[in-house]
Amino acid sequence: NRLEHRFGARKPPKVSFEFFPPKSEKAEASLWKTVDRLKGLSPEFVSVTYGADGSTRERTHDVVKQLSDNSGLATMPHLTCVGADQSEIDDIADGYWDMGVRRIMALRGDPVGGAGEKYQPHAGGYPYAAELVSGLTKRHDFEIAVAAYPEAHPEAPSARFDLDNLKRKFDNGASMAVTQYFFDTDVYLRFRDACVLAGIEKPIIPGILPVTNYATTKRFSDACGTKVPDWMADAFDGLDNDAETRNMIAANIAIEQVLALQAEGIDEFHFYTLNRADLCFAVCHALKVRPGKTAPNDPESTNWRLAGY
Ligand code: FAD
Repeated sequence: NRLEHRFGARKPPKVSFEFFPPKSEKAEASLWKTVDRLKGLSPEFVSVTYGADGSTRERTHDVVKQLSDNSGLATMPHLTCVGADQSEIDDIADGYWDMGVRRIMALRGDPVGGAGEKYQPHAGGYPYAAELVSGLTKRHDFEIAVAAYPEAHPEAPSARFDLDNLKRKFDNGASMAVTQYFFDTDVYLRFRDACVLAGIEKPIIPGILPVTNYATTKRFSDACGTKVPDWMADAFDGLDNDAETRNMIAANIAIEQVLALQAEGIDEFHFYTLNRADLCFAVCHALKVRPGKTAPNDPESTNWRLAGY
């Protein structure tokens, strides 16, 4: 039957989680609680975003340091080209390498002033992500991830141009791409096919954003080029003052999305956690990504205990 087909035995995929550097003590406490809960799911890596104009440079660095010193998780800082010359960016990368970090997400970054403003390469800087990837590979043996856009990057003159750009990032040394979030599963699947036709053989990991706030998501998506389908507006209609029901709807939509992708053979997912554990934890559970490798009530299962069960 349909539910059996959806939830029945499948191999758990690999997962990874994105966090952002917190702005207050309260937000920081909440981040570490989130990390504690999600680390039991044994992610492949956790990534930490970098403010568009380098504004979170220190905070990104501090979170990365704490994660790599204390959590035991493979940590992937994001690094962007915006507002810095090459030597400043190289210094940051050297610092990460010395700290034991072996993965970097190499990005151009959004223009100063945010997505929608006109981007100007910094004088003496790395102009675009492809050049940043080259620069990083020359310095250290990082495993480098880059961004990919199933609906094409909003500034790209064409989808073909953007795909060629992604290919260039791989040719320059990236070993995986994480996608911008999307809500139309077919768009991702068509993009994956286009990547294969373009000769890209490395993983294109779908970025999954569980949505709880429709209005904010719509605003943000308009700027970054992700289409928000009408059915999503309808799913959240009338729930502005009902966070609990919104959460249930959000989990349901995200679970449907990942199960549909998993049915198409996708075996790795990246979650935009927004520093919250609950939804990602529920979605991972549905994917059979669960704490520990042994039964939940097995006292030997350390991961299970770590996750607070
Ligand atoms: P690029 O790959 O350099 O491409 C940017 C645009 O320029 C594309 O339209 C491309 O087609 C075009 N282009 C590339 N080369 C050239 C060229 N030589 N001449 C003309 N046009 C060219 N932003 C942050 O600020 N901090 C983050 O931590 C962050 N994390 C992200 C994580 C993921 C997984 C994703 C998908 C996005 C993230 N972003 C982040 C947003 C990202 O920085 C923006 O989408 C940015 O506008 C593009 O970055 P990119 O690395 O994709 O750029």
